[in-house]
Amino acid sequence: MIVIKKNLCIGCGACVLLCPEIFQINSDGKSEVISQKNQKCAKQAAQSCPVQAITWNA
Ligand code: SF4
Repeated sequence: MIVIKKNLCIGCGACVLLCPEIFQINSDGKSEVISQKNQKCAKQAAQSCPVQAITWNA
């Protein structure tokens, strides 16, 4: 499952640009996961995240 480490996220929007179907910026200016469907895109977003805030748990 894709998990955003909100304490790390700086709200840069890179993940939303790459995978708008998975991520959105929420009202506190941080990314949140809105779908678990496209794990491949999420992995690309994780590599693009400047602060490594996109992670997985089992
Ligand atoms: S790319 Fe990383 S820092 Fe930028 S909004 Fe997404 S999770 Fe946050």
